[in-house]
Amino acid sequence: MESSQFIFSPRDAYAAEQKWRIVKRSVDARQRELKVHLTVLTDENGQPIAKDAPIPLYEPPVFQDVHNAQRQVIIIGAGPAGLFAALTLIEHGIKPIIYERGKEVSERKKDIALLNRNEGLNPESNYCFGEGGAGTFSDGKLFSRSKKRGNMQRVMELFHYFGAPDTVLYEAHAHIGSDKLPSIIKRMRECILEHGGEIHFETCVTSLKSLSGEAGLSLATPTILAIGHSAHDTYRMLAAEGVTLETKGFAMGVRAEHPQALINKLMHYEGNVEFIGNASYSLVTQVNGRGVYSFCMCPGGHIVPAGSEPGSCVVNGMSASHRNSPYANSGMVVQINPEDIPGNDPLKGLLYQEALEQKAYSEAVIQCNGHTGKAGLTVQRSAVAPAQRLKDFVEGRESKSLPACSYLPGTVPSRLDQWLPAHIGKRLQQGFRDFDRKYPGFLTNEAIILGVESRSSSAVRIPRDPETLQSVSTPGLYPCGEGAGYAGGITSSALDGINAALAIKNADH
Ligand SMILES: Cc1cc2nc3c(=O)[nH]c(=O)nc-3n(C[C@H](O)[C@H](O)[C@H](O)COP(=O)(O)OP(=O)(O)OC[C@H]3O[C@@H](n4cnc5c(N)ncnc54)[C@H](O)[C@@H]3O)c2cc1C
Repeated sequence: MESSQFIFSPRDAYAAEQKWRIVKRSVDARQRELKVHLTVLTDENGQPIAKDAPIPLYEPPVFQDVHNAQRQVIIIGAGPAGLFAALTLIEHGIKPIIYERGKEVSERKKDIALLNRNEGLNPESNYCFGEGGAGTFSDGKLFSRSKKRGNMQRVMELFHYFGAPDTVLYEAHAHIGSDKLPSIIKRMRECILEHGGEIHFETCVTSLKSLSGEAGLSLATPTILAIGHSAHDTYRMLAAEGVTLETKGFAMGVRAEHPQALINKLMHYEGNVEFIGNASYSLVTQVNGRGVYSFCMCPGGHIVPAGSEPGSCVVNGMSASHRNSPYANSGMVVQINPEDIPGNDPLKGLLYQEALEQKAYSEAVIQCNGHTGKAGLTVQRSAVAPAQRLKDFVEGRESKSLPACSYLPGTVPSRLDQWLPAHIGKRLQQGFRDFDRKYPGFLTNEAIILGVESRSSSAVRIPRDPETLQSVSTPGLYPCGEGAGYAGGITSSALDGINAALAIKNADH
């Protein structure tokens, strides 16, 4: 099949999408007048193919029956990396046995509802832990900055096969939404079980050695380690059991939220939203030798409490499929290099993250008790986040009040400008000034920042052999996904899971 490229206004692009088979779509927002680039499938005469033409979108996966498969693989963690590894193993006739510390997705939803109502954090079932991993209640933006790691289109096809919308097959910045992701994850689970894989929920792996024994499997049973980057206790276990770990660069900062209408105006989306949705942005600058950038921008989204340990405050963002909340949020983070933190402990970055998350928590609790005097707000229960108006933060002023915000557990005024470490806080202040130069009006007191955005990337790497993908210290162990430090985001983690499964298929286990 051939294809042709067109450049349309948002309105005409929307009309074209309703009738033609699109293979690629991206919005060009560099000019005041927005353009949509569409690549359309065409026939031998160059005519666009109709959207509903009986031409397969892609080759569907073929899953084998692995109930009695000779080869088995243990997978620790049922996030995108673990689930895509399991599906790939089944495609190749290998039985996956998954251990997941959290609950299956419908039970997990209840714990997340409690967290959002500020009624307590379940350390084993939250925005990070549970079926689908951190990907389930995420924004579900499906793109990766890396094009080198393998067949990204296959990841999109599998998401589509399990229920994601057609747009994931062609949209440059595809998005699923936190309302749609749980049912997609559930279908993946059903497929794994139906074909003979095993999934053990509420089973935290606390020792690699005991896992092999308990499962009645030889030590040589290949094990995919797909734990994500929030299982700090599991990293400690791995260090204690002699698995090689190393510090890796990461990023930390705050989450900023503007009224979506303001962002639409700054990005010239007004009048086009009904055709191309709410505007997003991607901002980057350099301040004193370190990158300061926006991360995981969620148009029409919500800020969420994304910590997994009591006594810490971590924020992140997500949006539903329609991206229609009145708020636009984004992580605003500063690059941190291993040499920025003194010492040689491979877990020093993780310790640094923990310290700042605990600081954010205690700052919020102090303010809650001191200022609002909220009755019944016990230390264990508080998911209230410390917050400051954006301009006040940059100009070093107290915020006497805070604007409305999407963060459900609540916010409390706090001097982030004073308690964030200077190398983060000062760089962020300059970064916001730079962003305001690019989009005048971005730096406004209508916007709010919440602390802390600390889990944008893993602070630990579990080094592996580049060919075999096995841990350099522990043969048979396949560290993969975000927690291994080789991926960041849903698609690259899923792809890394696929690659780990293929490496095992080709290995002599
Ligand atoms: C709120 C939020 C929004 C996000 N939005 C986006 C987005 O829009 N786009 C994007 O690309 N990325 C997004 N991310 C990041 C994305 O979710 C992660 O990059 C991705 O999920 C990493 O996949 P993973 O499989 O490597 O790890 P995870 O998804 O973290 O999964 C790891 C799993 O392992 C389990 N586990 C950990 N330790 C153990 C143990 N000892 N025993 C058993 N099980 C264990 C955990 O419970 C978890 O389920 C978001 C993250 C959050 C929190």
